[in-house]
Order: sequence, then structure tokens, then C-alpha cells
Amino acid sequence: MDYRTEVLSDIDERKLIIKYFSIIGGLTTLVMGIIGVINHNYPLFLALLGSSLLFFLSAVLSKHGQMNHSASIILYTLYVLMFYLVLTGGHHGTGPVWCFIVPLVTFFLRGLKQGTLDIVIFTLISFVLINISIRYYNYFGAYDDRLVSLYKRLFIAFIIVTILTALYEYFRSLYNRKLADLAEQNQELANKDTLTNLPNRRCISDHFSNKKTLKKTYSIVLIDIDNFKQINDQYGHDVGDKALQHFSKIFTLSSRQTDTAARWGGEEFLLVLEQTNKLGATQFVQKLQNQLSSYPLKVDNLTVCFTFSAGIAEIAPDTHFDQAIKQADDLLYKAKRGGKNKVLSD
Ligand code: GH3
Ligand code: MG
Ligand code: MG
Repeated sequence: MDYRTEVLSDIDERKLIIKYFSIIGGLTTLVMGIIGVINHNYPLFLALLGSSLLFFLSAVLSKHGQMNHSASIILYTLYVLMFYLVLTGGHHGTGPVWCFIVPLVTFFLRGLKQGTLDIVIFTLISFVLINISIRYYNYFGAYDDRLVSLYKRLFIAFIIVTILTALYEYFRSLYNRKLADLAEQNQELANKDTLTNLPNRRCISDHFSNKKTLKKTYSIVLIDIDNFKQINDQYGHDVGDKALQHFSKIFTLSSRQTDTAARWGGEEFLLVLEQTNKLGATQFVQKLQNQLSSYPLKVDNLTVCFTFSAGIAEIAPDTHFDQAIKQADDLLYKAKRGGKNKVLSD
């Protein structure tokens, strides 16, 4: 049985980020577009309006679960808008300032690897565009030749912000991965019996009561080792522990992939045999009894023989798990009262 459950992942967070980025992007570009109209800058208005529509389209796509498309639209709309602002200078040459948004959005949406590639390409294209615009043509007349040193410093600041954002993304994902590993380890520890390596009671109860009822016929077997206290008393607690491990090993070697065993309590085990009726379950448990008597526990020169009793409940589809356990427990009790080393089914 796989007792790992979903651990921390940043996929859900990325989904939220995509949603918020698209809405914030859509609203900001819309407002700035309106300001563009007020300033009679109609090409800027059209560029911002187009971007705004694309951001809202991306919000719609993210709502329908198309995260990758949505992220690509946000990112490439932002890039194209930035290229436009860099080339034309935007409002009085202030356009390139908006590029400082790019590293943040890129690393959030793309992660470190793909983000680095994207931002390198973005920076190279922007660098070429701004040089074309300032040095050769300044066709749009937005850049001021006297402010070239300011633009240079802005560019250096952009590179530094990009590197810092990349470092932040690196440590954030490293920390997230460590947290996810830790959560997985904790989950495993909480669900596993460390002595036998079998799932523990909590794990199997959660697993089956989450399913509420099984749709197929299955059998529940409750097993209790006979006179286990005597083993402890006679050979010591360590040998008792080894007896529990020995029994677990015998079950694991004899079982099918779909059979599940859990340590139910001290020297009690619970088996869940899917798609098995009581006849099949009885045969399986008898096989376990034979295996145990053929291969008793050997510790140094000591041979420790022990037996177990079992109660088997065949469970009709849609029967509740707790009810099935109760049935098996009653039968186990009867098997014990009937002289032990017995298997009883309903
Ligand atoms: P019965 O046949 O009626 O089941 O008798 P029993 O002796 O097996 O049952 P009882 O409930 O009297 O004793 C169970 C013993 O199992 C008592 C407890 O100390 C021991 N036990 C429980 N957990 C462990 C464990 O992890 N290791 C060891 N060595 N002993 C354990
Ligand atoms: Mg017991
Ligand atoms: Mg016992």
C-alpha cells in the first residue's frame, strides 16, 4: 500500500500567481492606456489596450485550468509591451523603467532554468532595441541624449535586480524542496510501524475509512499471535520483537500485490485481501500458518515456534470498514476462546 500522500508542491501557488498577475497586468495596462489617450499618445494607448486584452484573456484561460498557455500569454505580452516601450521610449523616455517588473514575473512564472533562458533573450533583445533607438535613430524622439548615463545605470540596476531575483528563486525552490522532503518523511514516519516496516493502524484506518466502503468483495483478517507474552517472558523482549518481524516477513513473502497488512496493535495484525472471499482468505491464512510452522523463527541457536489465531470476515461491497473490523474481531475472540491456533470465518 502506498501510504505517501500529496506533499507540498508549488504548483498550486504558481496557479494563484498566474491568476493574480493576469488580473493585475490587465487592470494596470488598461488604466495606463486611458492615461495614454488623455496624453494623446494613441499608439501607446493601442499597445496598452492590446496588452490589457491579452492579460484578461490569460485570466480567463487560467480559470479554465490552462495554466501553461495562460503563463505564456502573460509573459510574452509583457515582453512585447516592454520591447515597444524600450524602442519608442514610452512616455518621455520613461518606458524602460517598466522592465524592472520583468525579472520578477519571469522567474515566478517560469522557474529558475527556463526563466534564466527567457530573461537572457529578453535582455539581449532589449539591449539591441534601446541602442538602435538611442544611438542611431531616436526616431520617436523620446530619449534624451543627455540622459544616456542614467539609462546605462538603469541597465546595470536591471541586471542586478535580475540576478538577485534569480538567487531568490533558487533559494525559494531549494527551501520548498527541503520542506516537501521533510513533509514526506514525516508522513512516512506517522504512517509506518518502524519495527515491522508495515503500515500502522492509523495509516490503514485512514486509508480505508477515506474510501468509506469498498466496491468489491474483500476479506478482513484480524490476526493475534498466541501466547506472545510467554515468548517475551521466556526469551526476552528482543526475541519478541524478532518474532513480530518474522511474522511480517512471512506475510510479505506470501502475499499478492493487492494484499495489505498492517500492524494493528502490539502482537495483532490486520490483513485486507481485496477481491477475496472467505474461502480464499481462509486458504491464504492457512498457508501463512503452514509457512510459520515450516519456517520458525531462528535466533542464534534458538528455534522459536509460535502460532496465531485469526478471525476472517468476508465483506460484501459497500459495507463500512469499521463494521468489517468488528466482525473479524468477534471471530478472532471466538478463535481464542476455542483453544487458539485457529482460523474462524463468518
Ligand atoms: P493470547 O494468546 O490470548 O493473545 O495471549 P498473549 O500473551 O499473546 O496476549 P497478551 O495480550 O496477554 O500479551 C501480549 C503481549 O505482547 C504483551 C506485550 O508486552 C507484548 N507486546 C506488545 N507489543 C510488543 C512489541 O512491540 N514487542 C514485544 N517484544 N512485545 C510486545
Ligand atoms: Mg492481543
Ligand atoms: Mg496474543
